[in-house]
Amino acid sequence: MMNKIFKALAIINYLLLIINSVQAQYTHQDTLRGTNGPGRDWWNVKSYTIDVTPDYTKQEIRGSVGILFGIFKTGKNKIMQLDLQEPLVIDSIKGSATIRKYRREGNVYFIDFGEKDFKSTLENSNVSTVNTITVYYHGKPTIARRPPWDGGWIFVKDAKARPWMSVACQGLGASVWYPCKDYQGDEPELGASLTMNVPDSLIAVANGRLIEKKSNSGITSWTWAVTNPINNYNIIPYIGKYVNWNETYEGEKGKLDCSYWVLDYNLEKAKEQFKQVPMMLKAFEYWFGPYPFYEDGFKLVESPHLGMEHQSAVAYGNGYRNGYRGRDLSGSAAGWGLKWDFIIVHESGHEWFANNITTVDIADMWVHEGFTNYSETLFTEYYYGKEAGSDYVIGTRALINNDKPIIGPYGVNKGGSGDMYYKGGNMLHTIRQVINDDEKFRAILRGLNSTFYHQVVTTRDIENYMSKESGKDLSKIFDQYLRTTNIPVLEYKIKGDNISYRWTNCVDNFNMPIKIDIGADQERWIHPGTNWKETKMADWFTGKTFKPNRNFYVTVKHID
Ligand SMILES: [Zn+2]
Repeated sequence: MMNKIFKALAIINYLLLIINSVQAQYTHQDTLRGTNGPGRDWWNVKSYTIDVTPDYTKQEIRGSVGILFGIFKTGKNKIMQLDLQEPLVIDSIKGSATIRKYRREGNVYFIDFGEKDFKSTLENSNVSTVNTITVYYHGKPTIARRPPWDGGWIFVKDAKARPWMSVACQGLGASVWYPCKDYQGDEPELGASLTMNVPDSLIAVANGRLIEKKSNSGITSWTWAVTNPINNYNIIPYIGKYVNWNETYEGEKGKLDCSYWVLDYNLEKAKEQFKQVPMMLKAFEYWFGPYPFYEDGFKLVESPHLGMEHQSAVAYGNGYRNGYRGRDLSGSAAGWGLKWDFIIVHESGHEWFANNITTVDIADMWVHEGFTNYSETLFTEYYYGKEAGSDYVIGTRALINNDKPIIGPYGVNKGGSGDMYYKGGNMLHTIRQVINDDEKFRAILRGLNSTFYHQVVTTRDIENYMSKESGKDLSKIFDQYLRTTNIPVLEYKIKGDNISYRWTNCVDNFNMPIKIDIGADQERWIHPGTNWKETKMADWFTGKTFKPNRNFYVTVKHID
C-alpha cells in the first residue's frame, strides 16, 4: 500500500515538474490573464454596460464600463482583478461598494474593496441585490495592423476616404479596448450593451438590437444590446457609412430577424451575396439545431477586415465573392469551396460553436474552430451531397501541419496548433465514420447545442458527451488527434492466406475501428489494436488492394 502511495506521489511530482517547465515559458501576466485566479474566482459578471467615444483623428478612445456582478465567495477584504491593456488607463472607479484603493500591474488592475462585506447573491436571482462598479478610462488603444490576425482598434478610411472604425480582438482579448474580466469562462449571463458616441455623419452598429439613438450637438449616441450571454471579444463597435436592410427568416424557433449593414457603395453587391444567409441558416439549423440567439436577431456587418464571429453581429469582409477571398481551401477538383462564401458560412457557424458553446480556456479552442471548420463540410453536403462534403474535408488535409498538438497549454491564454481547423474538422469527420450512423451523428451535434446551450465548457465535456451519446468510447481517438501530432498508421502484412494488421504511431491502446474498401462499393470493418491481429482473408480480400476508406484521416503501410 505504502509503495502504491509512494508511486502515486512520484507520478504527481513528475507531473508538477512538467507543468512547471511548461509554465516557465510564460510570464506572471500570462497566468493572471489566462487563469481563474484569486482576483476573479469570487465574483461573477452579470452584465457589461459599455459607453465609448472614439476620436478618429487622434486615434484615441474615452469610455466607461458598468459591471454588474454577483458573488461566488462571500466575505470581506476582496481584491478584484480587472483587465485593461496598456497603454489605456483607468481614470476613476465608482461603485455601489466602497473601494478602498486600486493599483496597476501591467495589463491588470487590482481593486481593493476593504471592509465591504460581500453577501451571497447566487441563491437570490433578484439582480437589484448584486453589486455594481463603473470604471472610467481613456487612452490610445493598441491599433490592429493585420486584423483579424492581430487585434486592437481599427481606424481606417473606406474606399471613398471616409472614416471607418471597428475592433478585432479575439485571442488578444477585449481588454485591449475596455476594462473587463478578460476570461472566457465568465460570460455576462444577462447580456451586454454598447453605446457609441459618434459624429452625426456616421452610423454605429453593434451586437443585438438597437435600443436607443440620441442626437446632441452633432454627436449621435447609438446603443445596441444583447440579452444573452456573450464572449467579451465578440462585443464590437462598427462605425462608418453604413446602410441597412432587413428580412425575416422562418426558422426552427419561429421568426428570426435578420439585419444587414454594409457600406453604402456596396449595397447592390451585398444584396446579391447575402442571399446565402438564409441558405446558411437552413443548413445549420438542420445540423446543429435552432440559431442560438433569436432574441438578439442575426446580423452581418461589413468589416474592414476579413471576418470574425462577433455574436449576432458577424463581421463580414470577404469582398462579396465566394470562397476564402476567392479561393477554394479544399483545392477540390469540383471547386466545392467556391460554391459559397467562406465568411458567411464559417463565421456564422461560430454562432453555434464559439458563441453558444464557449470554451473556458482558449487551449481548448478546437471546440470552436474544429466544429466550425466541419460546418463548412456540412454546408457543402447539405446543398451538394455527401460525396461533395467528403471531397471538401479531405481536400483540406493538405493544409494540416501536425506541428504541435491541437490542445494548447492551459491557464496562460494560449491556443494550440492552427491544426485545430482542418485537422479538427478531419477528426470529426473520422469520428462520424466510426459512429457510422448519420442520424445519430446529427443528433449529437444538435444535442451538444441544446445540452451546453449558452454555457462554457472544457474539451472533456465535449469528448465525454460524444462518447456517451454515440455509445462508443472515442477517448483514444480524441487523445490521438487532439493531444499528439502523430497520424495513426495502419500497418498490414500478408502471409499465405492470412492478413495481419495493427495501429502504430499512435497512443497506447489506440483501438479505432476502420472501414476497408474492397472494390465496387464493398467495404469491410476491421478492429485493429496496437498488437497484430491475424485473420484469414481468402473470403473477402483475395486479389484486392488493402485500402482504408478515404474518410478516415489515417495513413496505411504495407509491411513485407
Ligand atoms: Zn473560426
